[in-house]
Amino acid sequence: MKKTFYISTAIPYVNAKPHIGHALEYVQTDALARYQRLLGKDVFFLSGTDENSLKNVQAAEKAGVSTKNFVDEHYTFFYNFKDALDISFDDFIRTTEQRHFDGAQKLWSLFKKEDVEKRAYKGLYCVGCEAFYKEDELVDGKCPDHKTVPEVVEEENWFFKLSHYQDELKKLIEKDIIKITPEFRKNEWLAFVDRGLEDFSISRSQERAHGWGVPVPKDEGQIMYVWVDALSNYITALNFADDGELYKKYWQTCEDRVHVIGKGIGKFHVLYWPAMLLSAGIPLPTEVFIHGYVTAEGEKISKSLGNVVDPYEVVEKYGTDAVRYYLLGAISSTQDGDFSVERFEEFYTAHLVNGVGNLTSRILTMLEKYNESIISVVNKETSDFRLQTSDFWKKIEETLQYYNFEESIHSINNFVAQLDGIISEQKPWEKAKNGEDISGLLYQLAEGLRHIGLALLPIIPQSAEKILNQLGIQVSDLENLEIEREWGRLEPETKVKKGELLFQRLNK
Ligand SMILES: [Zn+2]
Repeated sequence: MKKTFYISTAIPYVNAKPHIGHALEYVQTDALARYQRLLGKDVFFLSGTDENSLKNVQAAEKAGVSTKNFVDEHYTFFYNFKDALDISFDDFIRTTEQRHFDGAQKLWSLFKKEDVEKRAYKGLYCVGCEAFYKEDELVDGKCPDHKTVPEVVEEENWFFKLSHYQDELKKLIEKDIIKITPEFRKNEWLAFVDRGLEDFSISRSQERAHGWGVPVPKDEGQIMYVWVDALSNYITALNFADDGELYKKYWQTCEDRVHVIGKGIGKFHVLYWPAMLLSAGIPLPTEVFIHGYVTAEGEKISKSLGNVVDPYEVVEKYGTDAVRYYLLGAISSTQDGDFSVERFEEFYTAHLVNGVGNLTSRILTMLEKYNESIISVVNKETSDFRLQTSDFWKKIEETLQYYNFEESIHSINNFVAQLDGIISEQKPWEKAKNGEDISGLLYQLAEGLRHIGLALLPIIPQSAEKILNQLGIQVSDLENLEIEREWGRLEPETKVKKGELLFQRLNK
């Protein structure tokens, strides 16, 4: 039986349009899901939208529509990444769905009695963050993120006693039972735990929630705190409510349960979510990967600065794979990275147009011209040289294991340059003119290109498929990567067919 692998994006609020940072997270998660599938695993990739937020209620009020109509329209902003960015999620959950309400309420009902308690509470609440702040966490009395004065909230709420899990969470994180990647984030959260964990509010009054959200079981006056219901999406989508087959397969017995999130929501995923699961007696995530933020032209992206980069516009202009290649290859996966048009265009031209695009065209042109479009070498072992790809694949494996897409793509670019170098050095056209047999050389080049196509499948799936197709390979016929990455799998006598240019040069 195939090994199972579960991976999720965070679920964004739908009150605002997606920016390029959302696209980064979707593309990173998608590349990992595709890589795991290529390894032969049975992958479940989940995405979705967080629709029970108070922000949506406010945004809908402002737009003069019902909250339901508002979220029904706006969730597509994120769902449509599927086509625009070629995101291969297996399911997309909206937290306004019945299956989510049922699952979230079931999770709540499973909390240990001693872990929840109703208390009178007074606190400072930032709606933008959907979180309470302590006085000393504010900057000049304002939310450090939103620069707005939080509202004073005073009511009876349910509380979750996070303090009960302080020691256990510390141990789980320390021992990588919940592995936090990258390492510096792990250390940050361990230090946070050491400062002491405080109980947190897990419900709000119906009134403050404007009646929007998941009702607390057996307490009709209360609505679940939006994060409590939102986090449960990771299992409610698997039909946790009914202990469904998907839940058993991709969560309960699954070997890897990975969440991909941004650095701003670590607390919820590293502490709140595992504590809730511990209380309910449900298996924990095995890994949380935390990416950085994307700035635009060196500035923090914000609506007030008017520098929101619309991922749909960028895709419209440059194409899906160009955007994926930049997000994965030109932006650090763990630190903050920058989106700049100039850098984007440079990266695109250097690595896609002049890099793999040009190489593919060169190799296919020579096969057509000198070998009648056939990979015809009789004995592939006796040709002039044999490329070493085991180091290349080792590097791909290591870098992707640590979510280091940038390094992974760097290795691919290096391999492309290596093949280009061989062509320039060997000058196959001169050899052909002198009547030498270059079929062995062309075989090696075509086989090298096959490896590049394979390595690019998780990164730029459409272009990678085009490369493989030109070499007479159908992606649906591929074996798992362990087999495919062996040297020499390109069958002699394969008919190749040169395709259109993979990447158009930019008009300046
Ligand atoms: Zn805030």
